[in-house]
Amino acid sequence: MKNRESAGGPSGLMPFDAAVETILSCARLLGTERVPLEEAAGRVLAGGIVSDVDMPPFDKSAMDGFACREADLGDPMRVAMTIYAGEMPERGIGPGECARIMTGAPLPAGADTVVMVEHAEERDGTVRVLRPPRERNICLRGEDVRGGDVVLEGGARIGPAQIAVLAAVGASEVAVRRRPVIGIAPTGDELVEPGQARSPGKIRNTNGPQLLSQARAAGFSAEYLGIVRDEPGAIRAALRRAAGKTDVVVFSGGVSMGERDHVPAVLEGEGFSPRVRGVAVKPGRPLLFAERDGMWVFGLPGNPVSTFVLFETVVRPFCDLLMGHEHRPTVVRAPLRRALTRRASDRLDHVPAAIGEDGLAEPLEYHGSAHIHAYSIADGIMVIPPGTKRLEAGETVGVILVR
Ligand code: AMP
Ligand code: MG
Repeated sequence: MKNRESAGGPSGLMPFDAAVETILSCARLLGTERVPLEEAAGRVLAGGIVSDVDMPPFDKSAMDGFACREADLGDPMRVAMTIYAGEMPERGIGPGECARIMTGAPLPAGADTVVMVEHAEERDGTVRVLRPPRERNICLRGEDVRGGDVVLEGGARIGPAQIAVLAAVGASEVAVRRRPVIGIAPTGDELVEPGQARSPGKIRNTNGPQLLSQARAAGFSAEYLGIVRDEPGAIRAALRRAAGKTDVVVFSGGVSMGERDHVPAVLEGEGFSPRVRGVAVKPGRPLLFAERDGMWVFGLPGNPVSTFVLFETVVRPFCDLLMGHEHRPTVVRAPLRRALTRRASDRLDHVPAAIGEDGLAEPLEYHGSAHIHAYSIADGIMVIPPGTKRLEAGETVGVILVR
């Protein structure tokens, strides 16, 4: 996989945006499955959803009060009936009549206005209006949605609001995309699991738990492949364990230029084609992406901040696209609290940032790509485009929210 030369750019690195585009272009849609509505949250709709009803399905009162004719508002009105939510009026109202009506109850024929109960006085079966209503206080049949309307588009992620819409159209079962299964494989001879004794020279495996939780929080299935030793055979074995039961494997570590960085060569030996290797981004320059019929592999450099940021900015959009979902992170565009200077500006920079209560964006103290603690107190990832040497206080920056 010596294709750094082919990556373009003066440094031989692929521009970040081009790398993301190349990676996304490799995505293929996964299949679909049907899930009960109550299990649909977090999933991605396989197709559009059409409403089978008008919403609301009938003209209804928006208030507790009296349904009447606007023309009669100035005169005392006789209370002809009471209409409760869930019941149909037994008849319409005529001139000089009104109906006591509850919020959500169907409007009787003939009524065009509802007077709030607070603005009326009822005595001996007669109602006088104390304050004429400013609005009709009626929800008209079909004013929100018409039967036959597409209420949700295929590819939409299902959250609580979409669940409500699905419930409203009677979708007790929903066709969704299969979740991609992401195999998480942290590499490194120095790694011990967080619960294990740590002998001299060893460090705790933070990328494994972090990537697993990122994958699950993003709505993917995650499968832990265990710590992989820095030996070609161990990397090969992890790939074989992953084959057939994962769609995407995310290796952390072992993709740089060190003597024990065997991931690229093993991938090549196993028949994977490299699509991206070496990207003009900081942190994360050694980023590797390779594919082999329906199996995709990311090699993320092992520094915890690199894996954190690259998962959010590269792995996650790719895995979303496997489900037909276009990942659109929430990006806050905010003025910088203080000026920011960079020594080198040849790469796109991702920096941990906080958004203050005053709305200003502030880069956090950050000692480089091992300093994951900086992200534990950050609101998001500030994006500094390549070519930017200095940003003045007050200049607008984009921060991808990752809380
Ligand atoms: P590598 O990309 O393998 O050269 O690793 C870069 C740096 O990240 C080294 O300092 C590693 O010790 C560290 N590192 C690699 N994998 C992990 C991990 N799973 N958890 C924490 N640190 C790691
Ligand atoms: Mg390593």
